[in-house]
Amino acid sequence: MTGTPLAAAAIAQLEAEGVDTVIGTVVNPAGLTLAKTVPIRRTNTFADPGLGASPSWHAFAIDQTGIAFTDHIGVIGDQRLRIDLSALRIVGAGLAWAPAAFYEQDGTPVPACGRGTLGRIEAALTEAGIEALIGHEIEFLLVDPAGGRLPSALWAQYGLAGVLEHEAFVRDVNSSATAAGIAIEQFHAEYGANQFEISLAPHPPVAAADQLVLTRLIIGRAARRHGLRISLSPTPFADSVGSGAHQHFSLSMPEGPLFSDGTGAEGMTPAGESAVAGVVHGLREAQGVLCGSIVSGLRMRPGNWAGAYACWGTENREAAVRFVRGGPGTPYGGNAEVKVVDPSANPYLASAAILGLALDGINNQAALPPQATVDPATLSDSDRDRDGIAALPTDQAEVIGALDDSALLRRVLGDAAVDAVVAVRRLEHERYGDLGPEQLADKFRMAWSL
Ligand code: GLU
Ligand code: MG
Repeated sequence: MTGTPLAAAAIAQLEAEGVDTVIGTVVNPAGLTLAKTVPIRRTNTFADPGLGASPSWHAFAIDQTGIAFTDHIGVIGDQRLRIDLSALRIVGAGLAWAPAAFYEQDGTPVPACGRGTLGRIEAALTEAGIEALIGHEIEFLLVDPAGGRLPSALWAQYGLAGVLEHEAFVRDVNSSATAAGIAIEQFHAEYGANQFEISLAPHPPVAAADQLVLTRLIIGRAARRHGLRISLSPTPFADSVGSGAHQHFSLSMPEGPLFSDGTGAEGMTPAGESAVAGVVHGLREAQGVLCGSIVSGLRMRPGNWAGAYACWGTENREAAVRFVRGGPGTPYGGNAEVKVVDPSANPYLASAAILGLALDGINNQAALPPQATVDPATLSDSDRDRDGIAALPTDQAEVIGALDDSALLRRVLGDAAVDAVVAVRRLEHERYGDLGPEQLADKFRMAWSL
């Protein structure tokens, strides 16, 4: 996982390209992006044996001070952060970046590590003869350096005005991302005032999550150059739409794709149907991993296009799993978009949960429930009951409890990862559960910002 050491010539080449500092990042269970840096000559040491990090890194909370200690995460011990040299990229202005993962000092992977967990799921899929691709979407809000609202008199939903208003920033992100080897598919103004969205090209799961983290870093740096900041809160302001972090996934086997050219529903193969069924079935228990923060429930409302109902539906933006049918308009083929994921989630763990549930569905030949062909909010309670469509809970305590009690998610992700997510989210609930929507949105607007 950490790649072969860079040869002296490769280090010299990086230096010749102006790199003096290497940043290594991890994302913790609370969705915080944490980092260490080294001067370029220490690059190989950062990869192996790695740099020290206390186990409490897994427990840092979103309030800038809290640590959600558990029986297994305390003040004793020291782990190692190792960067993956094979994923190192030059960011510009003297910086290079590489994703890191947690290891014990003897080199064994730390079970709670998000990147390591996703790597294990990716390996399990490979073992089953399945190749997965994930395409990430990034929604974010531009705000002022203190996190305050920017003027929006010229804003229109998906409008040109927002692009022109922030044209220099948009160009800066596109050119910096391209220079760093990131494949941005599209970049546009979103629905909410000063909200933008970037879609990334699909990649294998770990590489896709790495690319997402690097893109966030690049957006954060570009915003700063223009005197701005980004909010990656699921609910930046309590009175407007939220920001999602939708993940599109597709699966294929040597015989072909599972979500296109099949004989089942919407062109899925039988295994493809079971994969979608597995995800839909596990959604409620996985919510704590996908969108479990204290401000996630404020977004998870009907009408927000956040997928507030546990069901699937073709091109249905109110379904938690929106199926995108393969065809001439979808060059990557059929895929399933998990809409409930938000930017407070650890993207590695969120992908691990989605793909682990999909694999579980395939292994159990899970039966695909009927799809939601209309906005579930327009159905009566009894019609929703008949179709097995339920609104996802918005109460954080309920979401955490469902994850904590989930034998399914514990099997998929492992106890260590589940316990760490439960601990950081429970701290949020215990400390801040009494705050109202506006206070919560204000307090945590910049919690995940880069
Ligand atoms: N902003 C919406 C969300 O919170 C998504 C809008 C869209 O469908 O792109 O998920
Ligand atoms: Mg969007």
